[in-house]
Amino acid sequence: MKKTVLITGAAGFLGSHLCDRFLADGYKVIGMDNLITGDLRNIDHLFKSADFEFYQHDISKFVHIPGDLDIILHFASPSSPIDYLKIPIQTLKVGSLGTHHLLGLAKDKKAKILIASTSEVYGDPLIHPQPETYNGNVDPIGPRGVYDEAKRFQEAITMAYHRVHGLEVRIARIFNTYGPRMRLNDGRVLPAFIGQALRNEALTVFGDGSQTRSFCYVSDTIEGIVRLLNADFTGPVNIGNPDEISILDFATEIKQLMNSQLEIEFLPLPKGDPKQRKPDISLAQKLLNWEPIVERKQGIDHTLSYFKHLPKENLYQKEHSFNQYIKK
Ligand code: UDP
Repeated sequence: MKKTVLITGAAGFLGSHLCDRFLADGYKVIGMDNLITGDLRNIDHLFKSADFEFYQHDISKFVHIPGDLDIILHFASPSSPIDYLKIPIQTLKVGSLGTHHLLGLAKDKKAKILIASTSEVYGDPLIHPQPETYNGNVDPIGPRGVYDEAKRFQEAITMAYHRVHGLEVRIARIFNTYGPRMRLNDGRVLPAFIGQALRNEALTVFGDGSQTRSFCYVSDTIEGIVRLLNADFTGPVNIGNPDEISILDFATEIKQLMNSQLEIEFLPLPKGDPKQRKPDISLAQKLLNWEPIVERKQGIDHTLSYFKHLPKENLYQKEHSFNQYIKK
């Protein structure tokens, strides 16, 4: 008998890669997404599989799944700063009400649940690199608070379900990750720079570009998540690549990799933008025998070739269609 896994955010960047992985590993996969930031094109190729089903549903409303369920992977949420700034209430609802519904479902089905948390729970960190034991420096009412606090609440309610109901839970604190199927217009730095370079525009560096990030290629992220799911560990685990780079150096690296002479345009630093971010992955190394293996240059190369093969109109589609949704 095949095991069944429910993947929320299935049409999104990480969710769609998880669908691929679990189908390849012999699971029945039920994908769920409300398609606000997700895109069916990311999972179009899966509908021919008899082991794949898809529900278009907003998990901040009651979730019903008929039959048995062994695993829930909760990856539904806007995750790019411009997305969650545009749809802050939906971001808070999916992290809180949505997570509550999935925990209830997991309890009902006696399923194991892994939730996608984030390095944003560390806010603008005062400790560097960030270990899981660091409690963070989040501004609850700042612009990023809607995402950060939703994810912190998500961790809290997940642990409460574990403590009160004995639910088997896993918490992945995912740091900046990138790769094919990101939206070119989602505002995050890597698709932003690649989109700008492909359109022959200046690369927009926010602030003086001295802020740092550490980018993990998607195949490494997915491998870390799968290993965490299968490990016997309840608390949060950082999944990310400790190879840290400043955003200005990152812009220069993209220019070099794309052989481009483009200008760099300096724009104001958004409020609350963390100054530095780098995961301490010693727990994941020890517990999961995992660490990233894809070098940034190689990962950018794969991602670039994905973006180059997208239909031309994607290059010029600057806004995502969920604007319409916000007005409702
Ligand atoms: N950033 C930038 N130019 C852009 C988009 C982002 O300089 O066009 C910066 C942003 O200010 C942040 C970093 O790149 O310091 C990473 O931003 P991203 O939105 O990818 O994710 P974050 O790690 O901030 O959630």
